[in-house]
Order: sequence, then C-alpha cells, then structure tokens
Amino acid sequence: MPQVHNWQLGRDMEYVHEAGQTERQFAAVFNINRCIGCQTCSMACKSTWTFAPGQELMWWNNVETKPYGGYPQNWDVKTLELLEAANPGGQTWNAGGGDGTPKAPYGRFDGTTIFESADAKRGADGTVAGEATVTGYIPTEEEWKAPNAFEDHATTFPKQGVTLPEHEGWFFYLQRICNHCTYPGCLAACPRNAIYKRPEDGIVLVDQERCRGYRKCVEACPYKKTMYRPTTRTTEKCIACYPRIEGTDPLTGGVPTETRCMAACVGKIRLQGLVKTNEDGSWADDPKNPLYYMVHEEKVALPLYPQFGTQPNVYYIPPRWVPRPYLEQMFGPGAQQAIDRYTKPSRRLLAILQLFRASRRIVFSYDIERGPKFDEINVNGEAVDLFDDTVIGYDSTGAEIVRVNVQEPVSERPGKINSI
Ligand code: SF4
Ligand code: SF4
Repeated sequence: MPQVHNWQLGRDMEYVHEAGQTERQFAAVFNINRCIGCQTCSMACKSTWTFAPGQELMWWNNVETKPYGGYPQNWDVKTLELLEAANPGGQTWNAGGGDGTPKAPYGRFDGTTIFESADAKRGADGTVAGEATVTGYIPTEEEWKAPNAFEDHATTFPKQGVTLPEHEGWFFYLQRICNHCTYPGCLAACPRNAIYKRPEDGIVLVDQERCRGYRKCVEACPYKKTMYRPTTRTTEKCIACYPRIEGTDPLTGGVPTETRCMAACVGKIRLQGLVKTNEDGSWADDPKNPLYYMVHEEKVALPLYPQFGTQPNVYYIPPRWVPRPYLEQMFGPGAQQAIDRYTKPSRRLLAILQLFRASRRIVFSYDIERGPKFDEINVNGEAVDLFDDTVIGYDSTGAEIVRVNVQEPVSERPGKINSI
C-alpha cells in the first residue's frame, strides 16, 4: 500500500492511493470562541442544497454542543472506541517526536489511523474477507434524527463559582462541515470509484452517476459527513458550494467567493480560503495567506481529531474555557499552545483575526499597515499593547477587497434625532 506523508501526524502513513498534489486546497479556520450557536450556517446550507424529499435528515453543515451533542449522535466517541479496540492503549502522541517544522509541528502520533487499524486486520495476501478497508461504522437512522440533541447542555453547574482559565461546568459549540480531507476516508472506501478529489481545489465530490448507494463511504468517513439519500439510493455530501468557489455562480461577480455557511456566519467565526500545496499534499510556504499564517506559523488553529488520519482541512481555534485534556483528545497536543497564542495574540495575529467575515470574497493574501498604540490590556498578569493596525485583504486577482482596523470605530448618534 502506498506511503503518504501526513503532516498533522508528523509521520508517513499508509493510504490506498498515492499522495496527489492539488493546484489549491479548500481550507477554513473556525474560531470556536466566537460561535453563538445561532445555526444560521446550518440553515443557509440546508435552504441551498438539502431541502428536497429524501434529504430530511441531511445537515451538511451542523453545529453541535460538546461534549454531549453530536450529529449523528456519538459519532466521535464511537469512532474513537473502534480505534482503541483495534490498538488498545496505543493511541498516543509523542509530543517530542516531531521537529516543530511544518512537516511535524505537534510531534508524532504513535497510534493507528482509520486506515492502518483496518490494515492490521488484513491477511498476508492483502485481503480481509467481509471486512472494510477503513475502520468505521454506519450510524442508525435514530442517530441521524436529532441534530440538536443536548444543545446548550453544560457538563455540570459549578459548585463554587467559575474557576478561570478553565470552567468547572462547560460546553462549547462545534461547527462541522465536510473537511475535504487530503486523504479522504470516504474516497478510500468507495468500491465504485465514485468519489473523487478535484485537482484544482481539493474539493471532494460524489459522482451521482457512478454511486450505487453501497454506503461504504458513510461507514468510512470518521466525521460522518457522507449521507445516504433513500429517494435516489445514492450518497450525498457537502460540495463546498463549488460554483461559488469557482466564481461561476452569477452572484459571485466572477471571483472565488466563500461558501454559503461561511458567508452567512453571524458570529464572524469563519474564514475560508484556498491554499497552495506541495507534492506530498502538505501546505506550501505562503505566510501571506491568512490561513497558512494561522495554521502553520502561529499554530493557533488545529485540525479536528487529526489522529483519524484523513488530514482534514478545516481548522479550529479551540475554546479557552474548556478543560485541556478534553481539547487535547479532540485537537491533538497543540491545544494549550493555540489557546496561549489566541489569548495573548501577536500584533500580526490580532490584525489577521479582523479578516473573519469582513468580505464574502475569498482572501488570498493580506498586508498590514502599522498604526499607533491605542490601549493596553492585562492578560493573565501580563501587559499587552494594542495597536490600531490596518489589515488589507486581496482576492485571487490581487485586487484589494477589504480593509479593517484593529480598533473598532465608534460613532455617536446626535442626541436630538430620536424618532420616538
Ligand atoms: S470529512 Fe468525510 S466526507 Fe469529507 S472528505 Fe473527509 S472523509 Fe470524505
Ligand atoms: S452562523 Fe456562525 S455563529 Fe452562528 S452557529 Fe454557525 S458558526 Fe456559529
């Protein structure tokens, strides 16, 4: 089986296909700290793509309340249990095992991925009678039925008030779409070769003509983002609003434009982009791309369950009030460092954070113009200077599309014109 490099694991791993470089890769950063759980993103997606008969239980974008919520219910716990059963006690990170470079920024994952744990069951001739090539499971219909179960449920009420920086009682919203993985589990498992990754932008699609509804992809996607449609007997999934990404949707004005779920986000938590990749599927050096800067230079945004091995391309700034062990099992060993950098941001990061939802056109690069110091705040006993820098975003053609200041403008309404 081909060996591919998975930078999120800090090592090579087995995958059913050779690594394929894409011209660009669809990617996004979600800032969990800012999400208000309004579900506008979920409704924007549903009203665009999944409103037809047979799609009633389909939410390509969903927002679930962790730790108890999940769509489908317990999707992550179930997959983690399968991996643990295949490799008892071995699903561990060697945080010192990497070299800190973009090839291994979080150390090395010493456990087995969804691909490797299935390989362990393979015979010498490479076949496994009656078993899948990827470790996974098919959720029941009941598990798909209540996407909002446990919404806003906290773990407990604090006994003696809130303890900072972590809270005794906590919950957080987890925003989920297809990760358009570099090594997709869904694609690896399809016996019809009906799933493909587009060379121009890395978007993962299901060819509806070839799909026969075997649901191998539903079983194999560890994030459970492929969904069976009984009326057509095929599988459907998030298509990353590709007409908007291409700029071919009439509303886009011909330039790459963010997806519906991103553009509609009320909390301004999402920033989407198209990053350049290397031959081995890793991200090419591009510090002028805001996503590259946050993921690879500041390491403030982390992949969701990197240990699954699919190299997902949606990244999360972890919630700062949640107990660290929970975050580490979900986002890997970089969780504490990411929170430290978010709570005490560098001058450049603070400016880049202003780009979230500042434009619906995709920002391909940015510049920062330095401004004067306007305030000083105290973060965990340390003084942090705030500067009124201006961040400027450019689209795919290099044209300026947005200009935002760190200091929020304040306007006062003249006192005498109150209408009531
Ligand atoms: S998240 Fe699931 S459906 Fe999306 S590309 Fe990855 S494996 Fe496939
Ligand atoms: S629209 Fe934005 S703020 Fe609202 S639930 Fe979705 S991700 Fe969160």
